[in-house]
Amino acid sequence: MIYEYQLRLLPQQAYTQDSIREYVAHEKGLDVRTINHVQVLKRSIDARQRTIIVNLSVRVFVNERPDKQDYQSISYPDVSQSPAAIVVGAGPGGLFAALRLIEQGVRPIVVERGKRVDERHRDLSLITKEQQINPESNYCFGEGGAGAYS
Ligand SMILES: Cc1cc2nc3c(=O)[nH]c(=O)nc-3n(C[C@H](O)[C@H](O)[C@H](O)COP(=O)(O)OP(=O)(O)OC[C@H]3O[C@@H](n4cnc5c(N)ncnc54)[C@H](O)[C@@H]3O)c2cc1C
Repeated sequence: MIYEYQLRLLPQQAYTQDSIREYVAHEKGLDVRTINHVQVLKRSIDARQRTIIVNLSVRVFVNERPDKQDYQSISYPDVSQSPAAIVVGAGPGGLFAALRLIEQGVRPIVVERGKRVDERHRDLSLITKEQQINPESNYCFGEGGAGAYS
């Protein structure tokens, strides 16, 4: 049988295929030996609270093997000489767009108005410690976008 589940796990439970498999077996009352494969369809992290939660959407193969077509290897060609496309913003959306462009053989040029992610720390501590907000570098603006601190 093939089942699909939405799961909310602690990061350590979502860390490896084996840990997810054990979690599914325990949570759904399945014998772990019958689970041949767990395919992660979607993964997101909810870091809004003190306890960080990993949301997973999974397909579980119980006494079944996944179809080989489920595994699509992605090749990343050398795009250094390819036509370019400009991506505005280095948040999760922009970085993902850049990755997809590479998959399509296009050379992405990502422009970002804020600071580098390692420099954003200083501006964030100014917000919390001195209530000073740099409009170009804060929780939302800068390399990584709002996703850098989500
Ligand atoms: C405090 C907070 C907590 C969050 N927590 C979570 C969480 O726990 N889990 C979760 O899944 N999501 C969370 N989110 C939401 C998540 O961060 C956003 O959904 C995600 O960052 C959106 O990605 P994005 O690339 O569309 O936009 P953004 O992350 O906003 O990125 C846009 C980028 O574009 C840049 N930019 C903007 N204008 C220009 C310009 N004119 N030129 C060049 N660059 C520009 C910005 O500097 C920024 O880097 C949180 C958001 C916030 C604010």
